[in-house]
Amino acid sequence: MKQDVRFVFYTGLVFLLAVFSCKENQSRVEKIPVYEGQSWFSSKLIADKVWCINDHGSDNIYLVEGEKQALLIDTGIGVADLASYVKTITKLPVIVVNTHGHPDHAGGNFQFSKVYAHPLDFELIKIFTSKEYHDNSVQRAINEYPNFESSFIKEISTSEEPVISPVQAGFVFDLGNRKLEVVEVPGHTKGSIALLDTENKLLFTGDNNNTLVWLFLDGCLPIESYLQTLEKLNQRSGEFEKILPEHGDVLDKLFINEQIICAKNIISGECQGEKYESFAGSALLCRYKRAGIAYNPDNIHIK
Ligand SMILES: [Zn+2]
Repeated sequence: MKQDVRFVFYTGLVFLLAVFSCKENQSRVEKIPVYEGQSWFSSKLIADKVWCINDHGSDNIYLVEGEKQALLIDTGIGVADLASYVKTITKLPVIVVNTHGHPDHAGGNFQFSKVYAHPLDFELIKIFTSKEYHDNSVQRAINEYPNFESSFIKEISTSEEPVISPVQAGFVFDLGNRKLEVVEVPGHTKGSIALLDTENKLLFTGDNNNTLVWLFLDGCLPIESYLQTLEKLNQRSGEFEKILPEHGDVLDKLFINEQIICAKNIISGECQGEKYESFAGSALLCRYKRAGIAYNPDNIHIK
């Protein structure tokens, strides 16, 4: 994807996905940074020691506590002070991981000294966590939400770049009496990962299992590859009950079956797809029950 196309795409992505993010304000946090009468972030306890942090409508960020450490799953668009906000929720040391390299998931990486991610998304992370990209994100946020300007982190320097550490399938984050396993879910990006908390039957899925998955971007894998990912994930459905996506509300695990049928209908031609227009360009869209896949008709089959 060319740089300018990326810019146009993500300019819209960050703000137009607002309707898909966790909206609740209920929270167990002790002190929330308040700007202009309200906080950029809000959070909700959605499972035992699991908080969904709402990045002001752009995306869901999850914070999972064990007994010794906490895991922050993604860093959002990065315009506000997520690191301080997280400290209002947990007193434990925080480990940070990116589900994938898109800017609404890795944008706040600079606020942390070390971030784990899959190596196949390192390049995306580099692009979307650059100083230049951050400047653009802040400017867009100011245009959209001028009342929050005083809360934004406007400047980052290259000295603030975190160490990006690789994780692959089977890597386990041990938080102390709570373990989350890395599961590779290539499709939306090559290096997408999910995090599986078998003990608590939770699967954190990044952008792999939303009700509208974008598979038409440059860098997305063919639908046939994505189908393989879904089927592999479904083979482990005995290990989770809830799907926690980064856009939208919590889903039950049966949702994956609907995604599988949706993908199969695209591959077989049973669904021809309706025209789908977005700021990122044109695509075709197929739906099956709750599942939706926006795809490029030239990128269905594995070549
Ligand atoms: Zn994404």
